[in-house]
Amino acid sequence: MNRRELLGLLAFAGGLGISRRACGCFWRRRRRYKIGCREIEPFQVCDPLPSQVLAPGDTGQEVAKLHAYLSQFGYLPNVGLQRAYGYTPAISECPRSLETYDEVTRKAVVAFQSFYRLPGEGTVNERTLQLIRTPRCGVPDKVFPSQPTRYVVSGYKWPFNNPAWWAETWQLPSGSGVQKLAWQAIGNAVGEWAGYSNIKPQKYMGDLPQSSPIYLCWRAGGPHSGKFRPCPTPFENAVLAHAAYPDGSDRAGEIHFNTAFHWATDGSAEAADVESVALHELGHALGLAHTAHNEAVMYAYISLGTIKRKCAADDIDGIRQIYGGG
Ligand SMILES: [Zn+2]
Ligand SMILES: [Zn+2]
Repeated sequence: MNRRELLGLLAFAGGLGISRRACGCFWRRRRRYKIGCREIEPFQVCDPLPSQVLAPGDTGQEVAKLHAYLSQFGYLPNVGLQRAYGYTPAISECPRSLETYDEVTRKAVVAFQSFYRLPGEGTVNERTLQLIRTPRCGVPDKVFPSQPTRYVVSGYKWPFNNPAWWAETWQLPSGSGVQKLAWQAIGNAVGEWAGYSNIKPQKYMGDLPQSSPIYLCWRAGGPHSGKFRPCPTPFENAVLAHAAYPDGSDRAGEIHFNTAFHWATDGSAEAADVESVALHELGHALGLAHTAHNEAVMYAYISLGTIKRKCAADDIDGIRQIYGGG
């Protein structure tokens, strides 16, 4: 990589709000991109997202990045997601070659475009590429053969209506009051869901915050720790945050925000909005999956600087479907 290419990559990372520390480039550890039953050979990249339009028959690293992306978000087989989310991918086959855009790749792209209502017929066109390069939630999409046009429920829920919640905000930069503001923002997000349904999370009042069923915290890097053990899904590919469904496991209700992004509560253009992302992740922690409605809170993608702090009709219908209310 020459100096010009390096500067271009760093500029891109800055544009996504990813810090140099997290992105790494030359000083990043070499790692493997896992896809289903195989692994992509290690290669050093600063930008793991596809950066050009792609079509069936294309070959090379850009295709490998596309495969990694489709595998990470539920469109191609992924053993890690299966373990973490009990997940069935949209397409159950693996592409013949990791660096070749074949018929399996095309089917997975069709499933992605169908979920997000994008044109393209299995070709990664400009609109599809633009969405792929938008920061998003790390929870995989729950894709069905005939996709519903409204909210999607995960199939999991809390067996009681007042799960406790707690947030660790000390990992955010100290000073400027952002830690306290983030705490308030999360409280607002909890209140938003509670206001529309019979689920009423309560602030944790005990001595051991990690006993709180809904537990929000910021974590650094790709692989990171959870409350009790390593998180099974590393932060990759511009993932802002992720959450575990209330599935009865010891990580149920955990929410991790990625410190590689800048976080703010004042709508800063280059930062992720704490309250908006917390509202989305709390939706998962309460049992909702991703919706295809881009105005809804449970839509997986959100650009930096975007504020989405109110539930849309689709979100309200979804949370009431699970817990009742009205
Ligand atoms: Zn999500
Ligand atoms: Zn995590």
